[in-house]
Amino acid sequence: MTKHNKVCRLCGEELDITHGNRRYHEDCAYEAKKQRSIDQYAGRSLQLDPYWRNEKILKDLYCSYGEQHEIDPTVLKEMGFDFNICKTKRQVNGLNQVFMHQYGFSILQNKKIILWKL
Ligand SMILES: [Zn+2]
Repeated sequence: MTKHNKVCRLCGEELDITHGNRRYHEDCAYEAKKQRSIDQYAGRSLQLDPYWRNEKILKDLYCSYGEQHEIDPTVLKEMGFDFNICKTKRQVNGLNQVFMHQYGFSILQNKKIILWKL
């Protein structure tokens, strides 16, 4: 039998195996559990609240494309973006910027969308 060192799923450090079925250090297990419930909460509030869903879609797209990349609005719609929910508007260099929370967008004259981050 090969020696198999089990590592903690959270921190990746080796586990001192006294129980065969341990997957975390004691502290890490607590931390992991806390993290799971935060994720569940975030997931739930995203489902319930279109405002945060919009924010998340903008964030995801921003992370993929960055600023200045022209995106077709149908991409946002397909992701579930609701264009009727607009939080803040401001005008910069003749462009209307619509912001959710940290992320926002402008619709260009060619109907394409570019993203902003506050
Ligand atoms: Zn650990």
